[in-house]
Amino acid sequence: MPLQQTLRHQHTAFQNFFSGRSRHPRFKSRKCRQSAHYTRSAFRMRGGSLVLAKMTTPLQFTWSFGDVDVTELAPTMVVVSREPDGRWYVSFAVESARTTPAPVANHAIGVDLGLTNFLVTSDGVRVANPRLLTRKARNLARYQRRLARCRAGSNNRLKAKAKVARAHRKIRNARQDFLHRTSTRLVRSADVIAIEDLNVRGMMRNRRLSHAIGDAGWGEFRRQLEYKCQRAGRTLVVVDRWFPSSKTCSQCGHLLAEMKLSARHWTCPGCRARHDRDLNAAKNILAAGRAVTRDVSGDACGADVRRQGTPLPQSAAKQGPDAVRLGA
Ligand SMILES: [Zn+2]
Repeated sequence: MPLQQTLRHQHTAFQNFFSGRSRHPRFKSRKCRQSAHYTRSAFRMRGGSLVLAKMTTPLQFTWSFGDVDVTELAPTMVVVSREPDGRWYVSFAVESARTTPAPVANHAIGVDLGLTNFLVTSDGVRVANPRLLTRKARNLARYQRRLARCRAGSNNRLKAKAKVARAHRKIRNARQDFLHRTSTRLVRSADVIAIEDLNVRGMMRNRRLSHAIGDAGWGEFRRQLEYKCQRAGRTLVVVDRWFPSSKTCSQCGHLLAEMKLSARHWTCPGCRARHDRDLNAAKNILAAGRAVTRDVSGDACGADVRRQGTPLPQSAAKQGPDAVRLGA
């Protein structure tokens, strides 16, 4: 069954490729993450004990969700996977109609993502960028250097490789933890969350910044916000990526012709207001998000998830300063 499932995945990958939706499927080495998908007829699960096809004894696993009773679990699919660091995981796909609407917060926030501060909200809350990869880079580099000096095919090379994989895992887990904490706190705090549609892939092409941008994990953060908003009945508004959120004055709507990336503070020539770059951008994103929710639903705080995740109407960029004035 897992072999058939793999063929199905390959089929989907090639279909996506030939219809122009994605790139050509890449070769995945057996040393990378491995997974086997077991569909319903290929496993038996009763009372929290899992028996996979071709196995006579139940698979021992540690359940890591304290609030869910494992004995009442009725999964539709089981995925057994091995990470490059040699750890094994089993994950269950379960059907759930349950959405847990979060308590109404009567609050809307705009969020500006950045590198110095991971995020700045329109309330003025700053979350520092943990820069996990940069902080642990020396450790990782040492293990990678050791690996590079080992002779190919040797046992010592395998051991060195495991250490590199372990260093990577630590960074990955720390980043995931940070992103989950941050996104959950954000979703709890507001009914309407406006963020900017960042072109992460495009920005990664900048060789000076790609390291820091990849380390920050904006793409994953956006993904988490999307599903958490949907689950909690919150509205996530994604503001057009060409919307000049940094260069517009959040008080009077004055639009600067240009602004350097290094300018952290600026004074508006229109109303003489002194702005912090990120806070001003967050306020503008909130205003643009409010303008859009009002346009579409007429209610800025409704639990509306229809537009969740989709790029926002083009008009938000063209309206620019007007939209900002309207919301400010
Ligand atoms: Zn101004």
